[in-house]
Amino acid sequence: MKKISCVILALLMVFTFASCGSKTKEYVIKDAALKPADRPDDDNIVFYQIFVGSFSDSNGDGIGDLKGVINRLDYLNDGKPDSGKSLGIEGIWLSPIFTSPSYHKYDVADYYEIDKDFGTEDDLKKLIEECHKRGIRLILDLPINHTSSQHKWFTNFVATHKTDNTGNVFYDYYTWYRSGGERPSGGGYSRVEGTDDFYECSFSGDMPELNYDNPLVVDDVLKIAKYYIALGVDGFRFDASKYVYFGDNERSARFWDAFIGELRKENPKLYIVHEVWDNDSVTFEYNTSGNCFDFTAAQSEGKIAMAAKAGNASVYTSYVENYISKLASINPDAVYVPFLANHDMDRAAGFLPVFNGRAYVAANLMLLGPGSPFIYYGEELGMKGTRGGANTDANRRLAMVWGDGDSIKDPEGTTYDSSKQIEDGAMAQMGKEDSLYTYYKRLIMIRNANPEIARGDYRYISFAGTKAGGFVSTYEGSTVCVVHNTSNDDLVLDLSGAGTFTELRAYAGVGTASLDGNTLTISSQTSAVLK
Ligand code: CA
Ligand code: CA
Repeated sequence: MKKISCVILALLMVFTFASCGSKTKEYVIKDAALKPADRPDDDNIVFYQIFVGSFSDSNGDGIGDLKGVINRLDYLNDGKPDSGKSLGIEGIWLSPIFTSPSYHKYDVADYYEIDKDFGTEDDLKKLIEECHKRGIRLILDLPINHTSSQHKWFTNFVATHKTDNTGNVFYDYYTWYRSGGERPSGGGYSRVEGTDDFYECSFSGDMPELNYDNPLVVDDVLKIAKYYIALGVDGFRFDASKYVYFGDNERSARFWDAFIGELRKENPKLYIVHEVWDNDSVTFEYNTSGNCFDFTAAQSEGKIAMAAKAGNASVYTSYVENYISKLASINPDAVYVPFLANHDMDRAAGFLPVFNGRAYVAANLMLLGPGSPFIYYGEELGMKGTRGGANTDANRRLAMVWGDGDSIKDPEGTTYDSSKQIEDGAMAQMGKEDSLYTYYKRLIMIRNANPEIARGDYRYISFAGTKAGGFVSTYEGSTVCVVHNTSNDDLVLDLSGAGTFTELRAYAGVGTASLDGNTLTISSQTSAVLK
């Protein structure tokens, strides 16, 4: 582990105390250096998570679909890196698109068929083609720990258990035990109707868990993944990765090493990200086979939110330094994957509001930093949605607010009070200089114009006596310094401890920043990029 060689010393003085909560506050982003730079073709790109059924509807049935995603690609990335007219994301995570009885489709009944609500395989091929034209990598969500109870593997499994047909290939497709026998590990079991046998189902009885000790299952599932690789997808988000062998991270992680090792033979550059909803010491176990979402950074009490809510920015950036240093020792190809919220969480705008600037500070911490940040659809608009008293995840997956007559509707089961949703949709925000959308767009431009922000040798910096913090990153001989002032105070900071910087590349936030010699004057809730 490298020693932190850089500590920034002096807080010179504290200026005015900036009040929070004003709705008339202006958000400023300087865009002098926004031209995209040459960057390596690595995993350090900004992703956008699309919950397909809630995103954009192409045929008027109110359900989002693949053609709807194609219709909206120009909003996400128009393929012209310096047009300044689209969000500029370079990766898309599609929630599951395969045939499934549920609206969320995390219980798959046929992995080889696109759900009829979402379109056809030709639509998927067209989407892949259009993504690639624009330089977007498309990854599919592949839930393979469990299937739907309607999958033919499971209906066959049930049939063979009812007749005790032990010679049938499907007899051992799912993890099971017989009453009185030894119960394997597992979060939950349900009875196979009409028998004394019980099948594993940690999430619900409708989601039976595949038996990965059976090589036939492994082969069948590998075939599915390879089928979509051959179709042109660029990788996968793997659902519930730690549940493959319930309660046994070591075995589960080794399963993924072997499984993904096989897939990389088809395409060594696959983008892989695991959902391991756990603390870092557990997620690191899975980095041997790819990237893992950083759940410690997400949600209202996560590392990013705690810093963005006027906390200490260097607490976050020192955490990131430790994280990526550990990651490098496990797998030098793996990258850091921060996010604020996803489809299983209350939306970020609830705990990082737009009106008091916290949404902007959080975006600074996430996007002006290393790795591969994921934006949950509508987060760039400040869209709202919480599970609420009705306790339904549908409220976290509300219809994207386009504001141009898109026929997309909220998913079934929604109880969210739509009068609380944002007024300005995507179209309105695209036309406004001070919108959160425009802010996100420019942050991504700043990130892409300065490749050292997302990759390189990362060292955190702090400023004694302040809550400001940041990092210095050197990539291919070029060094940037990113300073986040998450506090409510305007600050004047001496950068000498971090290095010598002569150019203020960009700043973003509630106020402004200026550089005089090696002294940075930076407003409350503002970040600066220096070179
Ligand atoms: Ca539709
Ligand atoms: Ca399992």
